Amino acid sequence: MKIICIGLNYSDHAHEMGKPLPQEPLVFLKADSSLLKKNKPFFIPDFSGNIHYEAEIVLRICRLGRAIAEKYSYRYYDSITIGIDMTARDLQASLSSSGMPWEIAKSFDGAAPLGEFIPVDDTVDVNNISFSLEKNGDIVQRGNTSKLIFSFDRIISYVSHFFTLKTGDLIFTGTPSGVGPVRRNDRLTGYIGDRKVIDFLVK
Ligand code: ZN
Repeated sequence: MKIICIGLNYSDHAHEMGKPLPQEPLVFLKADSSLLKKNKPFFIPDFSGNIHYEAEIVLRICRLGRAIAEKYSYRYYDSITIGIDMTARDLQASLSSSGMPWEIAKSFDGAAPLGEFIPVDDTVDVNNISFSLEKNGDIVQRGNTSKLIFSFDRIISYVSHFFTLKTGDLIFTGTPSGVGPVRRNDRLTGYIGDRKVIDFLVK
């Protein structure tokens, strides 16, 4: 399976990063070895002094598809959760400033903590899903999918023109503002609406 991620997909986050808004979805990948499930602890790697959390809605792909038209995108995912796009901000900054790919800053072991999936059906307005992240009990990020620059439908259509989507693939859809560093013994807890879907410790 593959993990597809969309960067700078909320304007408030693009502003906090000092980046212009993308004209097309900004796409990168994480390796399957970055997945961290079942609320297992995240271990801060020794190669970074500045690991940031980024809470994002994650889509689970439920059928094979390529070159999907936007109007059919909704058929290709069946559940959502929160994933944390853990980012070695120091590595990312130095690599991107020298024009290098920054995969190692985003795709290292454990860099994709993933919550428990919630099924999506016709009763869910996917363009109005609120979600939040707490660090040590304080809310640090609040998002709503109505603020996405590129909607779920647009993302699925766009990425499927480059990558065949397969059952079990995951799409991290971007983070709202409020990203920040994690330290040892922090606790991160993510909610979709009022429902807790991820809760883990940083070690
Ligand atoms: Zn991200």
